[in-house]
Amino acid sequence: MSDSPSYVLPLLLNLVRYFLLAGIPFLIFYILFPRAFSNNKIQARLAKQKDFIREITHSLQTTLILAAVGILILQTPLRAYTQLYTNLSDYPRWWVPLSILLSLILHDTYFYWMHRTVHHPRLYRRVHLVHHQSVNPSPWASYSFHFFEGVLEALVAPLILLLIPMHPLSLFLFTLASFSINVYGHLGYEIAPRWFRHSWLFELLNTSTHHNLHHAQFRGNYGLYFRFWDRLMGTEHPDYVREYDKIQARRFGPAGGERSWWQGVWGGFFVLVLGGLTVAATVETPSIEGQWTDPETGAVVAIYEADGLYFGRLIEGGHPADNEKLRAHGELVWMKNFERSCVAEYCCGTIWAPKRRKTIAARLILEDGRTLRIEGSSGWLKGQRIFKRVDPAAGVD
Ligand SMILES: [Zn+2]
Ligand SMILES: [Zn+2]
Repeated sequence: MSDSPSYVLPLLLNLVRYFLLAGIPFLIFYILFPRAFSNNKIQARLAKQKDFIREITHSLQTTLILAAVGILILQTPLRAYTQLYTNLSDYPRWWVPLSILLSLILHDTYFYWMHRTVHHPRLYRRVHLVHHQSVNPSPWASYSFHFFEGVLEALVAPLILLLIPMHPLSLFLFTLASFSINVYGHLGYEIAPRWFRHSWLFELLNTSTHHNLHHAQFRGNYGLYFRFWDRLMGTEHPDYVREYDKIQARRFGPAGGERSWWQGVWGGFFVLVLGGLTVAATVETPSIEGQWTDPETGAVVAIYEADGLYFGRLIEGGHPADNEKLRAHGELVWMKNFERSCVAEYCCGTIWAPKRRKTIAARLILEDGRTLRIEGSSGWLKGQRIFKRVDPAAGVD
């Protein structure tokens, strides 16, 4: 409900993201099918249980830090200093995927230089050593950082939000993409498809082998998503391409070999995830604006947006007291100050209850383009009421 403490959701989201995105690959590659993927294994030796426990413990600490920074920039007055925007229509829809791509480029640049800094002998032991205790990393190592490094990692979000405008949805998708790539980098198994080696993407993007080599040898390959900075600064490990080719030759045979069915499945999976993220980012969401009616009482309300907040003007009252007031004032703004908190959810607004002569805290959920669920905290609005769009043909903007 809207009155839950505001720190619960960010914390839960961060925890669920960590345990699902790191846990599922761990289950597949380390518990269920390690033998089926033995050719994909980057380092021959196996990581130990105590490594997993250390990695999870430190990752939980980083998760708390990330959630705390998320709360600071999203839910405190500090938000005013960021370029977060709440109304998707404030910028063109194509800005959503573009802002995610720019965030990844900014993050990669920030990470490369931060990473090289913490490799300085004066900082290495105090800040970065925890991450490098995972010489043979597993997905659990993705957030395994010392407290100070956790803070440095988390600061990238406010930094990006100072530089470019972002919708919370873009920010969420960016963190999702970022963590997924991070898990791939620490997977311990190379899963890139065979065609990848001869495409331009290989020249541009990091692989699991790339970051694994950094963990195994402690130097070279400082980049996060892209090879760009390592190649430009001459810090790419000289053995990288040779190591990568060795693993891929083991998987596909030196001459290329035949592609097995599950390699096709992985290729399909990559395309699906990328496609899904793009569609999720660009999909048109139905608008709450327009006229809605309560089928039970016949009340009609016109919802409109002003300065990023949503209001509802009563056109026809469902209660005699409403109509009385409506006639007296000519206009009655019945719903006030609803803010889009999620793609189809509007929170923290109020609705006027004429019978009780008070405002009731409520939130609105757009179930689809034609159905609006109103959840209120007391009186006539206690629980929920379903409103229907007056002109269903105008359901989607
Ligand atoms: Zn390092
Ligand atoms: Zn790492």
